[in-house]
Amino acid sequence: MTDSPTDVVTMDKIVALCKRRGFIFRSSEIYGGVASTYDYGHYGVLLKNNVKAEWWRAMLQERDDVVALDAAIIMHPRTWEASGHLAGFTDPLVDCRTCKQRFRADDLKAASCPRKPSKHPGEYDECDLTEAREFNLMFETTVGPVREAGATVYLRPETAQGIFVNFKNVLQFSRRRPPFGIAQVGKAFRNEITPGNFIFRTREFEQMELEYFVPPDEADRWFEYWLAERFGWYTGLGIRADHVRLREHGPEELSHYSRATSDVEYLFPIGWSELEGIANRGDYDLLRHAEFSGDKLEYVDSSTGERYVPHVIEPSAGADRSALAFLVDAYDEEDVEGETRTVLRLHPRLAPVKAAVLPLVRRDGQPELARAVYDRLRPVAQVEYDEGGSIGRRYRRQDEIGTPWAVTIDGQSVEDQTVTIRDRDTLAQERVAIEALPAELRRRLEAPWRTPKPGAPAPQPDSTTA
Ligand code: ATP
Repeated sequence: MTDSPTDVVTMDKIVALCKRRGFIFRSSEIYGGVASTYDYGHYGVLLKNNVKAEWWRAMLQERDDVVALDAAIIMHPRTWEASGHLAGFTDPLVDCRTCKQRFRADDLKAASCPRKPSKHPGEYDECDLTEAREFNLMFETTVGPVREAGATVYLRPETAQGIFVNFKNVLQFSRRRPPFGIAQVGKAFRNEITPGNFIFRTREFEQMELEYFVPPDEADRWFEYWLAERFGWYTGLGIRADHVRLREHGPEELSHYSRATSDVEYLFPIGWSELEGIANRGDYDLLRHAEFSGDKLEYVDSSTGERYVPHVIEPSAGADRSALAFLVDAYDEEDVEGETRTVLRLHPRLAPVKAAVLPLVRRDGQPELARAVYDRLRPVAQVEYDEGGSIGRRYRRQDEIGTPWAVTIDGQSVEDQTVTIRDRDTLAQERVAIEALPAELRRRLEAPWRTPKPGAPAPQPDSTTA
């Protein structure tokens, strides 16, 4: 199934391209892999790093009311009592006594029975499903003696709680007052009953979370503000505006802590699915941690003596899911002179490699000059040198990894110290002096960019910083 009639992308094509080009592959493959667990190879690391860097840029560099944090994955176990995860972070599951498989009871229609021809669990006469029981999604592990709770600890199922328990610390040293935020990027772990759809749902993933603390009477306004900000982040990085939307949760869908939640959803090949949740969490978290720790978690204005427990707006995104959305949105195929060209039309700031330096042939001084050009561009951006195989094959390889520009060194280059720059999207070639190349690459990286795919957003006026 493709996501729109004009779109050629499928999840299978993305999985195949990621494997073929070494972005993402199955984990522990030599042992047969681990279900729904993936490793990132060279280009995958560069892409995901760029996604996270863009998130940090939007959260820190472009504003002055957010500070960074990197809290530990293993936290005091009381954290999860206070947050409600120990009691309530569960999915209902059923076991089938016949096929010995486990399914999410609230989503049987999305699951398929392993018996062929495939049907949903419970639909064959022989299906013998147990009653649903609640299954906690937190991974448990053991460390040396821990006060009160013995030795059981949990791998954090979200990064957010690391921020709440550090609220007092950060308030003290950051010299901020509400409205202000604490941002964190890091791994989270959930023992999902039905992971799947490549890196969309895995048991180990990375989150990019902001907790934005505001005066209680400003919470509604800031909630609206963050909805717009976060929506704009995706379109600013090239996601087609008609492939991303905000969806408000109905009352029955709201988490126990949430006063309002909207999801940013992307039109994946599997249909509209959550990319990011934005929640108005009220004062729930700070009050709970104050209650369980005995510490006061509030803001006190030293000049007026005013004190209050801030309310929290939380935009919570997934780095892997975002990377998948950027890949899906970028994937394109076009017919060039009777051949299909596969190309990732990634925003240049997200592209793993910004420019490839390619000598046309491996003689006549071209490789030497190309190496010199490569060395000049390396301080500017992530660039790659490639002299192996025909120039056509090398272009195709760079197109598939989404490299926006190919710098080609040819016979003329050796004579007059100029090169051509080939544009990934338009295939236009422009001749430029080698002397001017570093500045030209910088200029192109800073210029607004929009995808040539239909349904593209308008260029963002603020997307011009390198
Ligand atoms: P879902 O409904 O898809 O399970 P959620 O509502 O439980 O997601 P949140 O707790 O709001 O997710 O987490 C915030 C973000 O973290 C999600 O929007 C998603 O991008 C990411 N995320 C959550 N669970 C996973 C997972 N198992 N694999 C990959 N990313 C995830």
